[in-house]
Amino acid sequence: MSRNPRKLVAGNWKMNGSLAANQALVQDLLAGIGQPEFDMTCDVAVCPPAPYLAQVRQLLAGSAIDLGAQDLSQHESGAFTGDVSAAMLKDFGVRYAIVGHSERRQHQGETDVHVAIKVKRALAAGITPIVCVGETLREREEGMTEFIVKRQMSAVIHLNGHCISEIVVAYEPVWAIGTGRTATPEQAQSVHAVLRAQLKAATEHAERVRILYGGSMNAANAAELLAQPDIDGGLIGGAALKAPDFLKILAASA
Ligand code: PEP
Repeated sequence: MSRNPRKLVAGNWKMNGSLAANQALVQDLLAGIGQPEFDMTCDVAVCPPAPYLAQVRQLLAGSAIDLGAQDLSQHESGAFTGDVSAAMLKDFGVRYAIVGHSERRQHQGETDVHVAIKVKRALAAGITPIVCVGETLREREEGMTEFIVKRQMSAVIHLNGHCISEIVVAYEPVWAIGTGRTATPEQAQSVHAVLRAQLKAATEHAERVRILYGGSMNAANAAELLAQPDIDGGLIGGAALKAPDFLKILAASA
C-alpha cells in the first residue's frame, strides 16, 4: 500500500471567530485559492467552533475546502448536556473532527480512553478523526517523548482495530502549541517515524495514514517541515486565523 500522495492541511480556529470574522476569513481564503496562479495540490479543511459549523458550511459550499469540527462527544446520544454527537456533526457536513487535542486533554481532563472512544464514534459516523498526540516539555526533557506518543496512540489502536487505517494522526508537541517554538524538522520527523512504525505494526495500510505536524507551524517554517518523509501535512492553529498565512502554508505543501 503506497503513501497517500495528497498532504492535508487543517486549520484549527480554536475558540476564535464571530459571524463577521468567519465570513471575512473564508472569503479571503476562497479568493486566494481561486487565483489562477494558486496551485493547491493538498487537501484542506477548516475547523471552526461548533456554533459556526452551519455558517462556515454554507460559506464553503462548492469549494475545495472541507469542514472540520474541533471535538465530538464520546457518547452516541442522550442526557449529555452541552455535548455534540458525531451524528450531529455529520448532519452539518463535517468531514474531519479533531480528537484529543492537548488543550482538551489538559483542560477537560480527556484521557487516552476518552480519545479512543471518540475516534470510534467519529469513524462510525463516517467522520475522519484527526487524532492528536504529543508530549509536554517536561516529558521531552525526561526523555519520555516516544513512550508518551506511543501510549496515546496505542489506546486508539487497541479500541479501533483494523479501522485505524482510516484515521489521520497529528503529532503536536505540547510545548510547541501556540508558543512560537516549533519542533525542528528533524525532531518532528523522528517522532513521525516512531508513529509510522507503530501504525505499521497495527495495519498493513499504515503508509496510507496521514501524520500531520502541529505546533507553531507558519508560513516561514512550513515548507521545511512538510518536506520531511513522514510529515503528511499540518494542523495549524494561530496561522489559520490569517488568510495570507494559511494560504502560504497551503502553497508550501504543494
Ligand atoms: C493547534 O492548536 O493545534 C496548533 C497547532 O496551534 P498553533 O499552530 O497555534 O501552535
